[in-house]
Amino acid sequence: MDIKKIEKFIKSRKYPLYHINQIQRAVYKNYVDEWSKATSLPLQLREELSLKIPILSFSPSKILISGKSDAVKAALKLRDDLSVETVLLKLKPGHFSTCVSVQVGCAVGCPFCATGKTGLKRNLTAEEISDQILFWKQHINREGLEGDLKNIIFMGMGEPFFNYEAVKKTIKILNNRDLFNIGQRHISVSTFGYVPKITQFAKDFPQANLAISLHSVSDEIRQKLVPLSGKFKLEKLSTAIKNYLQITNRKIFIEYVLLSGINDSAKKAKKLALWLRNAAPAKYFAVNLIPCNSVSKSFSAPSPEKVKLFQNTLLDYNINATIRKSLGRDIKGACGQLAYKPF
Ligand code: SF4
Repeated sequence: MDIKKIEKFIKSRKYPLYHINQIQRAVYKNYVDEWSKATSLPLQLREELSLKIPILSFSPSKILISGKSDAVKAALKLRDDLSVETVLLKLKPGHFSTCVSVQVGCAVGCPFCATGKTGLKRNLTAEEISDQILFWKQHINREGLEGDLKNIIFMGMGEPFFNYEAVKKTIKILNNRDLFNIGQRHISVSTFGYVPKITQFAKDFPQANLAISLHSVSDEIRQKLVPLSGKFKLEKLSTAIKNYLQITNRKIFIEYVLLSGINDSAKKAKKLALWLRNAAPAKYFAVNLIPCNSVSKSFSAPSPEKVKLFQNTLLDYNINATIRKSLGRDIKGACGQLAYKPF
């Protein structure tokens, strides 16, 4: 929902302005999913809103719940009939996170990612991005799930820094106390390493979290895994990391998808550790190791032993490294598995 549209509507229809606050409370505090349920509003206003301004800018076309109920994936049909997916994750009891999409498809083209295979269709608007969070808040409320949505991760479909203005607007909507009231420290934005926007992001949101999908510290391998990285070589990325740390002094999350036989050897772990330590002191990095969630025959995850060895090698160099628990693999809701075609 775009609160500006609501304000305009209330003013144009000459309703008393206090209805704007009532609407904000109904939508962002009580999570009503139909205007008829916003009973603090007069009946005529509820009826007009139902006809003219839908609460969400999309309609969910399908919802899948993983076997362990720790991940839920939704396909959302946008007004132009395109679709995106979004995922709700229960990382610990009472603590939900959501992975939101920022584009329909993605131009970066990582060959191990379902989104990357589709190309880019279009950017999402700030309303379409923030509505994904509203949608999950409504879901938690409607299903009576215990807990709250605490963390927002911009790591679904698309490259957030290629749709920067909408992402920036969304973060401001999330921060707004009268709307979501979610602080920057609970927001993480992931990029493949789009160097031109890294410093900008540090200046705009110095308290938010930055994640960089690195996957290799060889320009040659990286270009195969992240095709657009050819334009932003590792040396430039290293400089951008230094600038980012100078402004924020905040830890950076390094995402590293482990692909069997490609980037998963202990030797490559050592190279990664040295590259990071060359960019900044080890304490500034937290590496998330993500065993590949295969979407193509060309890529598979290494054995658990190999994953452990990779992690231990990083730890030997004092680099904090954790193995990502891939939630929602059974519903194709894990990292790299989101696609724009409805499932
Ligand atoms: S992994 Fe991320 S950046 Fe790469 S194609 Fe998929 S969505 Fe785009």
